[in-house]
Order: sequence, then C-alpha cells, then structure tokens
Amino acid sequence: MEHQSSITYGNKYQNGYLGNDLSGSGWGETFDFIIIHESGHEWFANNITYKDIADMWVHEGFTAYSENLYLNYHQGKTASSEYVVGTRNKIRNDRPVIGPYGVNKSGSSDMYYKGANMLHTLRQLLEDDEKWRSILRGMNAEFYHQTVTTAQIENYLSEQTGIDLTAFFNQYLRSTAIPTLEYKMDENTITYRYTDIVADFDMPVRIYIGEKEHWLLPSMEWKSEKLPNISQMVVDKNIYIRTTRLD
Ligand SMILES: [Zn+2]
Repeated sequence: MEHQSSITYGNKYQNGYLGNDLSGSGWGETFDFIIIHESGHEWFANNITYKDIADMWVHEGFTAYSENLYLNYHQGKTASSEYVVGTRNKIRNDRPVIGPYGVNKSGSSDMYYKGANMLHTLRQLLEDDEKWRSILRGMNAEFYHQTVTTAQIENYLSEQTGIDLTAFFNQYLRSTAIPTLEYKMDENTITYRYTDIVADFDMPVRIYIGEKEHWLLPSMEWKSEKLPNISQMVVDKNIYIRTTRLD
C-alpha cells in the first residue's frame, strides 16, 4: 500500500496482481502491478488527497488509470488501450462510484476500473494527448499537497478541457447506468439514440467506417444520418458505452 513513510509490498515479486493479469489482455503480465499502482498513488492520493472518503475515486480512479499510462509509455498506445478496456470485466455497476458524504463510507469498488475507463474515455473526447498530459500534470500542480472534493476535480477538468463535463461525471460517478447506443442501419443510413443516460448526457461517440473516422452525436432523441458504407461501422472501443443493434 501507498501510505507515506510506511509503504508495504506484498505482490510476491511477480508480474500482474499476485501473478494474475487483471485485464485479461495479456498486458497486465508485463509489469508488477503493485509497484506501478502504488507508485501512481504518489500523485493521486499522496499529493492530491480526498477530503471525504466518499470521493475516494480521486485516488483510485486516477491511480488505476496510471497503470495504463505506464503501459502507454513502455509498450505503446495499443497496449495501454487494450489493458484499460480489458479491465472493464472488473466493473460491477453495483453502486455509484461516489459514496455517501459525512459518514466515512466509500463508494463502489468500481472507483478503480470504471474510474480508469471514464478517464480513458475523456482522453478520447479531448483528441489531444499533449493537452491531456498537461492537464494531468497541471492538476498535480494546482492541487499540490491539498485535500480536495470531487467537485474541485470535476470543475478543474471541465475548465481545462473546455468541455462541460457535468452530465458526463454525473453519469459515470453518480449513476450505475452505462450509456447504451441503440441503433438501426441500412447500407447508407444510421438511426441512433442513447438510452440509460442521466439528464443532459450527450457524449459524442467515435466510429470508424473502414479507415474513415466519424463522430456520432447521440442524445435521448432518435437521429438519422446518411453515411456511405455505414454497415461496416466499428464503434471505437476506447469509449466506455454499450451498443445495441436493433434490426
Ligand atoms: Zn490504490
């Protein structure tokens, strides 16, 4: 564990978590999970610390996310992406990530890998890795050695990305529903909408048609778009949603 001046290690000098790859992608076997995860906590937990344990995702979500940043650095973007997407198998959506305030109670253990997948999704929305990196580093300067609330972190990320992330954070941190993209299509037209979303949730979804990249802009309302060869669509797995084809 990451406690300052009292670090403990119990991973038996094995790669993965006690020899297991949490992601099932194979990439988790390439590093000692505990060394990387607990080192990540030097930034998220020991530098930026929650005020109330209800907001513990600020420690564990970002630190779980740091595992794939480590992979990104050493093994490349595909490895990091396969790892974080693979850890979705650990997400239970049993309770909200944020717990009840003022009663010393944390939220769901989803704070780890749902938190990490939420941040990985946000990186996609930003479409600017250099800026994303500077935002994460900037966060550690802005809140250096402070105790914070999730609201401070959420506001910081909205301001720095220039995206109003209010509904985005409500969806992933305060609800257990995962946005579902429902769609129907013929050869050149896609009709789609979101279900299982909180009020005002309108996150774009990146799709690929062959080599071509395109962003769908779903909301609660059905929408139709003409897109050549849409039947070959692949939804970008990096964005944490569910998809249901209706026809
Ligand atoms: Zn941790």
